Amino acid sequence: MPNDAPTTEPAVDYRALLEHERADLRRQLADLGFGESEGLTYDPNFADTSQVTAERGEAGALAAELNEALEEVEAAIERLNEGAYGRCEVCRQLIPEARLEAMPAARRCISCAGRA
Ligand SMILES: [Zn+2]
Repeated sequence: MPNDAPTTEPAVDYRALLEHERADLRRQLADLGFGESEGLTYDPNFADTSQVTAERGEAGALAAELNEALEEVEAAIERLNEGAYGRCEVCRQLIPEARLEAMPAARRCISCAGRA
């Protein structure tokens, strides 16, 4: 497996940050009733009134956002495992640590993210 990741020890434990974020996102999804075991299915006995439907819709939209964030975090953990973490996927430059600290799941450097 090629490993061109920086050899110096990073100042920040990104794996811990990402795992913390992943646990947090999973907990939020579970709180919304969209935990892994339940999936994105609705309980038909629970969606009777329009008010409940509206609330479910809001929760569904939030859950979709959380799921997207969760996928980004899991992809970042995957890059850590492959030694590809911290490099912009567009220009292959190292992403500055300040950006990774603020956004550990970032795939691109600021200039490439701005161009997308
Ligand atoms: Zn870039």
